[in-house]
Amino acid sequence: MHTQIIPADDELAVISAAGNLTAGNLVGLPTETVYGLGANGLNPEAVAKIFEVKGRPQDNPLILHIADPEQMDMFCHNIPESAYRLAEAFWPGPLTMVLPAKDIVPLSTRAGLPTVAVRCPDCDVTRRIIRHANIPVAAPSANISGKPSTTTAEHVLHDHDGKIPLIIDGGACAVGVESTIVDLTENPPRLLRPGGITPEQLIAVLGDLVIDKAVTAQIDKDEVVKAPGMKYRHYAPAEPVIIVAGERKKAAEYIHRHFEPGDRVLCFEEELPLYADCNPLSYGQEADVNTLSAGLFAALRELDDSSIGKVYARCPVGGGVAYAVQNRLKKAAAFHIVDAEVAL
Ligand code: AMP
Ligand code: MG
Repeated sequence: MHTQIIPADDELAVISAAGNLTAGNLVGLPTETVYGLGANGLNPEAVAKIFEVKGRPQDNPLILHIADPEQMDMFCHNIPESAYRLAEAFWPGPLTMVLPAKDIVPLSTRAGLPTVAVRCPDCDVTRRIIRHANIPVAAPSANISGKPSTTTAEHVLHDHDGKIPLIIDGGACAVGVESTIVDLTENPPRLLRPGGITPEQLIAVLGDLVIDKAVTAQIDKDEVVKAPGMKYRHYAPAEPVIIVAGERKKAAEYIHRHFEPGDRVLCFEEELPLYADCNPLSYGQEADVNTLSAGLFAALRELDDSSIGKVYARCPVGGGVAYAVQNRLKKAAAFHIVDAEVAL
C-alpha cells in the first residue's frame, strides 16, 4: 500500500480523509495534542485495524473524537452536569472525558468497558473531516504501541509507511503531549492522565479532583486500573532513560560523574553549554514549559536508537503543563529517577 501525505490546507484533504474513514480505512490525523491514527469509531472492523497496525493491546480503549461539543450526547448517557461545564470551558481543546457509553459505541472502541472516552479536538481540519464523514473518529496516538507519540506527519509516516493509505499533514502539534483524561463516572472526578488542560484548570471548574495513582507511580501489569492504557510501558526509546532531578549544577555534576561514551543527555536549552562534551539534545526551554511539552516526543523519538547506551534526562518541576511533561518523561524512564542533591 502506498501512503499518501496531503497537506491540511490542500482542498483534497477533507474529502480524501473523510472518504477513507467512511470506507473503513485508517487515516493519520493531526490534532493540537499529538497525531492520531483514526478510524470510523462506529465500525468494529475499522477499529480493529487500529489495534493491528499499532500493535495495541486489545484491552486498551480508544478516544472517540467528535466535531462539536453537542455530539457528546449522541455517544454518552447519564452525563453529569459537570461534563457540560468542562465542555463549555475547554472544548474544543486537549481534554478527554470518560462517560457512560451509549450502546451505539461498539465494544471494540471502548475495549469492552461500559464507558467511552470522548474529546472534541481543537484542530480545524480534523473537525472538518469528522463533520464531512459524519461519523465520530476513534483514535489513539499514531505511534507504534509503547513508543514515543507522534507529533508530526513525518513521525506517522516513519511508523506506518505502507500500512495506512493516508496522512493529513497539519504541521507540528502545538501542545505536543496527549490530552488530559478525566473520569466523570466517579464523584469527585478522577484525573487519569495529565495533559494540556492542567489539574489547576480542572479544579477551578470541578471544585474537587482525585489524582489516580497511575499518574504518579508505576502500575503493576496485573493491577486493575481505570484507564487500561496506564499499565503498559509507554513512550520509551530503545535504551534506558534516567531522570536526574535536582538543582542545575548538582545535576550536571552527577551526570558528568556517571556519563559513559555512547550515552546521551536530554536537557533544557538553557543547559546545553553545561553538557557540551555529553552529546546533549535540548527539547525546549525550562523558562517556557510549553516548548518542553511541544518538543518532548520529537526528542524522545530522535533518541530511540539502540546504539545509544543510556539517556540522562532533565525534567521540569512544578504544576500546570509541567505536570504532564513530568508524567510522560517518568513513564519513558520507567520511573527511574535519581536525586542529584543526594545521590553519589
Ligand atoms: P492514547 O491517547 O494513545 O494513549 O489512547 C487513549 C487513552 O485513553 C488510553 O490511555 C486509554 O486507556 C484511555 N481511555 C480510552 N477510553 C477510556 C475509558 N473508557 N476509560 C478510561 N480510559 C480510557
Ligand atoms: Mg498513546
